[in-house]
Amino acid sequence: MARMEARPKPVLREDWCKGCGRCVEVCARSCIAPGEQVNPGSGLVPISLRLDDCNGCGLCVDACPEPYALVAAGLAGRLAAARPPAPWAPPPEVPAERVPVPERRPLVLKGTHASAVGALLAGCRHFFGYPITPSTEGAELMAKLLPALGGTFLQAASEVATVNHMYGCGGAGRPSMTFTSSPGFSLMLEGISYMIGAEVPGVFVDVMRAGPGLGNIGPEQSDLKLACRGLGHGNTHAPVLAPATPQEMLDFTALAFELAFRYRTPVVVLADGHLGQMTGKVSLPRELARPGLPSWAVPGDAAHRGNLVCSLLLEEAQQERHNLALLEKYARVTAAEQRAELFRCDDAELVLVACNSPARTAKGAVQALRAEGIRAGLFRPQTVWPFPIRHLAPLLGRARAILVVEASDGQLEDELRLALSHAGRAPGEIRHVRRLGGVLPAEGEILAAARSLSAEVRQ
Ligand code: SF4
Ligand code: SF4
Repeated sequence: MARMEARPKPVLREDWCKGCGRCVEVCARSCIAPGEQVNPGSGLVPISLRLDDCNGCGLCVDACPEPYALVAAGLAGRLAAARPPAPWAPPPEVPAERVPVPERRPLVLKGTHASAVGALLAGCRHFFGYPITPSTEGAELMAKLLPALGGTFLQAASEVATVNHMYGCGGAGRPSMTFTSSPGFSLMLEGISYMIGAEVPGVFVDVMRAGPGLGNIGPEQSDLKLACRGLGHGNTHAPVLAPATPQEMLDFTALAFELAFRYRTPVVVLADGHLGQMTGKVSLPRELARPGLPSWAVPGDAAHRGNLVCSLLLEEAQQERHNLALLEKYARVTAAEQRAELFRCDDAELVLVACNSPARTAKGAVQALRAEGIRAGLFRPQTVWPFPIRHLAPLLGRARAILVVEASDGQLEDELRLALSHAGRAPGEIRHVRRLGGVLPAEGEILAAARSLSAEVRQ
């Protein structure tokens, strides 16, 4: 009588095991235990095997979703003899496309709605969010439109859940976004740090409101510092766009998606409560975007199986190299993406610096000052990180003073001073008009401060 051949015991190929534990659950003989050591190759924690009692039933091999992690001994031998199945040769990039659209009449939209339309035109079909005033109308519009476009709207359990949904969606190479407001944005910062570390794109539209704490729902530029300097722990920066009109809410949101994928990074569109609710004429672009699929993504198909999107690098030298690469990326963003509007700055002796809603009032003040014979101009950062110092520096030879107008406790002025310092420029005479708590700077107080400063520096 022929002897029954022993059934092959499983072999673990650690680099491929993601530690999901499915094999642990199915083994009736307790041969498999969750692991404790991170595998430096994958950054994950593979299981451990003790096969003394293994009968070779093969249930664990069947349960394993990774085709190369837990395999029968015969296959393990063949895999070892064969070339590795090219886990580190990513598939070709599927490029994004621009699709022309017919000209349409302009719409009249509120800021949050304009931003939602900008996201849809940029190809965003995944929205994750948690309602928070004064940003909720943007999410509402996405909830109405996305299902009809074959997209996904998910009201998450919290802001923390939101940012982690975005982490997953961005890791799959898909454009995603959220609308939030200051207390909600604060809750997302850890996840944004993860996304920056793992180089995952995603767009955060933060309609800022007054703080600290829950504050109120009035407009304040309360998150400038957070967005420019505090996107979570570690070496974190991301482009921060500061719209001032409903048109820019659309344009900058669409631009944010472009930047997010160009640089593999989260991007923040920093609006304020006033701008979010403000209604204005909005022209639609003549093109919309059809997103591609980046070669680095992990969309869950076989072709991208070898990719790993992860912010965990346990080996110190490797983590340092990663940080240096991030610094190099920040330098590229700083060199290429500084944006600003200059209004009547050519001959300005007094330069008002303002962004978001306060910039609208400051622009009116500049016109009034010009009518009085005061040579004033408005410098409006459209990116607050990177601060557009390259556009400001040429004005500094003629300008005798700067007046910073903001709805915060000096957060914009701090960015300005830091940018001047890094550029090796003396700060010169800088004054400010600041309001807080949901109160925006009024034209009268800007004019009073500007007249007084102008008279002072002319003496
Ligand atoms: S082959 Fe069967 S007994 Fe052996 S480790 Fe897998 S599930 Fe357990
Ligand atoms: S061997 Fe497979 S099933 Fe088991 S933990 Fe690893 S990936 Fe999951």
